[in-house]
Amino acid sequence: MLSTARVFACNFKPSQSPPLRSKTQMEARTRSPQSTFSRSGSLSPPRESLREENGGGTVITLQEWQGWGTESPLPERVAEIVHELKYLEKDFNAQMSFGGVGGKLQGDFKIQEDKKHRATYQALGDSEKKLQFFSARQIACRLLGSRGYLCQKCWLALEDCMCSKVIPCALWHGIRFWLYMHPKDFLRQNNTGKLLWQVFGVKAATLCLFGIAEHEEIMWNTFALAGKSNVWCLYPNKNAPTKLVQDSFAQESLGGLECPSTTTNREKILNFILIDGTWNNSAAMFRRLKEQAKLAWGEEDLPCISLAMGASAMHKLRSPQQCF
Ligand SMILES: [Zn+2]
Repeated sequence: MLSTARVFACNFKPSQSPPLRSKTQMEARTRSPQSTFSRSGSLSPPRESLREENGGGTVITLQEWQGWGTESPLPERVAEIVHELKYLEKDFNAQMSFGGVGGKLQGDFKIQEDKKHRATYQALGDSEKKLQFFSARQIACRLLGSRGYLCQKCWLALEDCMCSKVIPCALWHGIRFWLYMHPKDFLRQNNTGKLLWQVFGVKAATLCLFGIAEHEEIMWNTFALAGKSNVWCLYPNKNAPTKLVQDSFAQESLGGLECPSTTTNREKILNFILIDGTWNNSAAMFRRLKEQAKLAWGEEDLPCISLAMGASAMHKLRSPQQCF
């Protein structure tokens, strides 16, 4: 089983990391429309056939969406934005092209689309709608920009696919991880949170995208059923005493740990939220979790656990002074 310490290291990144990460070779490649869409990767049909299959309408199928590591339905807002982007291609008479970090739009299409989406964003009344639009647009662009370029399972470029190196493993039945991921980390090649569901499967390590209503609803419905005492957030909450894993769970009976397939104690599943974003983004994500905790349980207090610093070699690797 992946140790909790390693999970922490995988999902918490120092704020200094994004500019450094953006220099990685893997993400520096630029995709021309040709290389993005005409690649004959087995994971994604060529663009023209997708158009035919979908009658030029919604171009992300449920199968394609779920292939990226989720069991959720295709989020409605994402589908709408993909549809709008395809419509704008015709309207602007300019083809979408993607490149750089996280499949960003490029070229003439980007210039025109930029004006359009900024106007849409400004016109939205409340901050909730703005967040949902921001998240859905980020995800829609990444879906279109990664199609046929990234392996859907490991999120690496198809030629760098490392799926054959990953050995799946059962997670202890008493734990479920929730990867609460910022949209800017979705389909990032150097994202490490995805490793959790690659190893443990999407039922044991579930993706929840920040600002995507369908995902947040699935997660909070599960938490409501589980009860507050069975939900923990791995986050160093400055406004509450930090509880270490050892302190929080030392008294717990972990008798089933060595029997992953046993069905005893199944009623008690500990849900761990792992915030997957930069340090800067994680603060906003944690605020949202507290707001949603208040809606669910009437109080903002969300039990947090932290890990002893220095406990993990992986964490040291992520610390700013160790970056290069
Ligand atoms: Zn792969």
